[in-house]
Amino acid sequence: MGMIIYKTDEEVELIRKSCLVVSKVLAEVGAMLRPGITGVDLDKTAEEVIRDHGGIPSFKGYKGFPAALCVSLNEQVVHGIPDKDQPFKDGDVVSVDCGVFLNGFHGDSAYTFAVGDVGEDVVELLSVTNTSLYKGIEQAVSGKRIGDIGATIQEYVERHNGFGIVRELVGHGLGRDLHEAPEVPNFGKRGKGVKLREGLVIAIEPMVNMGQKRVKTARDGWTVFAKDHKPSAHFEHTVVIRKTRADILSDHSIVEQAVANNSNLKEIGLKMELA
Ligand code: MG
Ligand code: MG
Repeated sequence: MGMIIYKTDEEVELIRKSCLVVSKVLAEVGAMLRPGITGVDLDKTAEEVIRDHGGIPSFKGYKGFPAALCVSLNEQVVHGIPDKDQPFKDGDVVSVDCGVFLNGFHGDSAYTFAVGDVGEDVVELLSVTNTSLYKGIEQAVSGKRIGDIGATIQEYVERHNGFGIVRELVGHGLGRDLHEAPEVPNFGKRGKGVKLREGLVIAIEPMVNMGQKRVKTARDGWTVFAKDHKPSAHFEHTVVIRKTRADILSDHSIVEQAVANNSNLKEIGLKMELA
C-alpha cells in the first residue's frame, strides 16, 4: 500500500468537499429508497449528483467495477453491483457505499438502510454497527494506534448477540488515491500497529454480520456475502486524525434527516451519546 501520506489543512478541506458530495449522494439514496426500485435506479441518481457537483465516481472503473455505487443487499456485505433485475422489497437491508473524486482527492462513506418492516434483530444489527463506527472514531486521535481503533470496534461488536466482525475487508487511508496506507482493520489489539498522527486521513468502516464472521466472494468477482447468508451491515466515515478528537469529514446527519423524512425506511439509532 506504500507509505503514509499526511495531509495539509488545505488538502483536508478538499477531502471534506469530496466527502460532502458523497454524503449528498447517500442522502439522495435515503430520500428515494423504497420497495419497487432497484440498485440501478440508485446508481443512476448517484452518478448524476456526483457529476452535477463536478466530481467523478471513484468506484466506477476501479479495477473494473461497473458502477458509481456499491449496493449490497441483505446477506451481501460489501461491493455489491447495482442490479436492475432485483427490486427492493419490504424488509430488505441495503448497504450503500459511495466514493467521489473531486479536486484531486477522494471521499468515501457508506450507510446501511432498513427498508420497511425489518425485524428487531436487523434494527439491532444496524444500530450496533453504526455505534461501533463512532466507538472506533473516538480512538482516532494522535498518539493512539491503529490497533486501538480495531480492538474497540471488535470488542463492542462482539459483546452483542454473537454478531461477527468481518476480517477480510478493512478500512484504509485515502487522499489522492482511494486506498492509501495504512490499512484500518475492524479488529486487533490495543497499543499495536501504526501510531496515529495529526493529518492522517482514514476511512473507518466496520462490516458486521448478524451471524458468523466468515464471508465469500460471489461468482461475479465482486460481491462479498456472509457465508451463512444472514444479514450484514456496513457504515463508513472518512475522518482526519486530530489531537483530542477526530474531525469527521463525511456527514451522516443529512442522510439521517432523509431517512427520517422517508416513511419507507426505518430510522437507525445510536447506542451512545456523541461527545
Ligand atoms: Mg466506502
Ligand atoms: Mg472505504
